[in-house]
Amino acid sequence: MSSPSELPDPVPLLDLKAQHKTIRSEVLREIERVIDSQYFILGPEVEALEKEIAEYCQSAYALGVSSGTDALLLAFMSLGLDSNDEVITTPYTFFATAGSLQRVGANIRFVDIEPDTFNLNPDLIEESVNEKTKAIVPVHLYGRCANMDQINAIAQQHQLKVVEDAAQAIGSEWKGKRAGSMGDIGCFSFFPSKNLGGYGDGGIMTFQDEELYEFAKIMRVHGGKPKYYHRFIGGNFRLDAIQAAGLRVKLRHLDSWSEARRKNAEEYNQRFLDTGLVGEEIQLTELPDDRHIINQYIIRCKNRDELFNHLKEQQVGCEIYYPVPLHLQECFAYLGHQEGDFPHSEQAAKETLALPVYPELSEAQKDRVVDVVRSFYQAG
Ligand SMILES: *Cc1c(COP(=O)(O)O)cnc(C)c1O
Repeated sequence: MSSPSELPDPVPLLDLKAQHKTIRSEVLREIERVIDSQYFILGPEVEALEKEIAEYCQSAYALGVSSGTDALLLAFMSLGLDSNDEVITTPYTFFATAGSLQRVGANIRFVDIEPDTFNLNPDLIEESVNEKTKAIVPVHLYGRCANMDQINAIAQQHQLKVVEDAAQAIGSEWKGKRAGSMGDIGCFSFFPSKNLGGYGDGGIMTFQDEELYEFAKIMRVHGGKPKYYHRFIGGNFRLDAIQAAGLRVKLRHLDSWSEARRKNAEEYNQRFLDTGLVGEEIQLTELPDDRHIINQYIIRCKNRDELFNHLKEQQVGCEIYYPVPLHLQECFAYLGHQEGDFPHSEQAAKETLALPVYPELSEAQKDRVVDVVRSFYQAG
């Protein structure tokens, strides 16, 4: 094996500096404007972002919040979910989806995923609905929308609320409808690794219903209305103006970035097919006809953990999302689940690997990623 100094340039999983170069002066000018105004909390900059995101997400209203996690928490608080309620969601997601449900005291009811989309399997939802069920929380994992026709049909039939965890899916579509426009509330994250990443933590929620939006807006500032008069207990869930100013610049580039990711994903799929490894050693994720923003490019692979180490040794960035499905997390042991309860989630946790797919990847970098994967299986 060659020593690290002889290796080609590293390929990071994500290269935010490459993106920053292209918008640096514009972003700094906008952030400087906010600092000069000395208006930091909510205010006109956040309101302008909310209008732009509502329109981008085909939604009536948007509400800027402190993070994607807080978007979920505030959504569940605004719907009044508590320990009398059951909520259906997927065990194959980032921790915050279920963590936020637990924080309002709701009873989590996991339902397994579809192996080909990694999203909640709608055919398994109905059998988990009972008289305590109040909501379904689909996650549009990796940037691909869950089957919202079926999920909404079940929700309508049983009068359940739907909260879309769209943290990874801004701009993604299900049959022409944007993520966040199909449920009662859509929750987005501006964590820097998302397609629309901020300059720190941030998030946003989308709504169709005015009353629900107005209530969440009150709960965003401690639940007081008028200010200092409390019928409700909310929290500090505010987005700040510096974040909003930077995000507004980035929003103008978001479509071209998401298209570049999709193109990279299509090229990877073709290049991996050309290696002859597909079928036995690796399995590709088929891309839907619908708009998929490819927050992560995911393959399934044989000997995943060894391949992960090989890629790291060769300085190719990769990550395992997520190594432990939520029903097997220690903090959820009280739910009484065991290995085998959600086999598709467990299998995905064992087999999947995310590869670099960021918009600025060069042809040579994509070649290198595929070559390093190929060399692992050809050597073994
Ligand atoms: C990123 C993410 C969140 C949380 O967002 P933060 O802004 O990091 O709090 C929630 N759900 C999913 C599916 C995510 O990917």
